[in-house]
Amino acid sequence: MKIRLLLSLAVALVALNAFAQQRDFSKVEIKATPVAKNIYMLEGSGGNIGVSVGPDGILIVDDQFAPLAEKIEAALKDLNPGKLKFVLNTHHHGDHTGGNVVFGAKEATIIAQSNVRKRLSSDANTKKEALPVITFDQSASVHFNGEEIKLLHHGPGHTDGDSIIHFTGANVVHMGDQFINGFPFVDVSSGGNVEGFIKTVAAVLEKIPAEAKIIRGHGPLATVNDLKSYHEMLVETTGHVKKAMADGKSLDEIKAAGLPEKWKSFGGGFINAGRWIETIYKEASKK
Ligand SMILES: [Zn+2]
Repeated sequence: MKIRLLLSLAVALVALNAFAQQRDFSKVEIKATPVAKNIYMLEGSGGNIGVSVGPDGILIVDDQFAPLAEKIEAALKDLNPGKLKFVLNTHHHGDHTGGNVVFGAKEATIIAQSNVRKRLSSDANTKKEALPVITFDQSASVHFNGEEIKLLHHGPGHTDGDSIIHFTGANVVHMGDQFINGFPFVDVSSGGNVEGFIKTVAAVLEKIPAEAKIIRGHGPLATVNDLKSYHEMLVETTGHVKKAMADGKSLDEIKAAGLPEKWKSFGGGFINAGRWIETIYKEASKK
């Protein structure tokens, strides 16, 4: 059973890779949205990119896919004539780090949590230029364009190497895939877990000011209230599944009954309600 699961996961990952390599990026357009002060969000294909522009040059958070690097550079040039000095990676997934190989080779300094470098290095296809040059375990700060940009690792969540990035002056937070517009993807094969995922979201809510603007890993710009209802969804849906388990329900029964209607809108994305229930169930069964 376990081997079969791992196999199907491996097949899914290979398919995802092939998808990234084969897909036609020529049609993708990079759209820039002002977030606050000197911070912008770029959308194209893959994870949302956070951008800081100013007198020191340019810093980006995540860089989508390598074939989009030229378009990303052009979009950055429209915002600021300065040089791209830093790339911060929220985590190792290819739709957030694919551009590293291009920007790293052009002497941008890549910074990420230590496990991001470990996971990227363990893939034989990763070129040296794509690896983070500066790594940290818990936290790091980049003092850039007149503000402190904090990278904070809260332990395992979406993966085991996620950072929450806070532009403390502009009051903007980039959450990576710790916050997306749908039920979360918890990458258990990369050290992620549901409990840690929820803890991280709670910790962010405790720290950030009410008027902060939030860039999610995927989906439109968000507010602190959006993050609050996301947290509520996480707590209530996991509670719902655990209660059904305590009542002796099987995974199939819980999936057939579904989640409370209130959270239906979260199931339209990458992770549907069934897959989210399964993720919660499997983790809770291990205890
Ligand atoms: Zn991810």
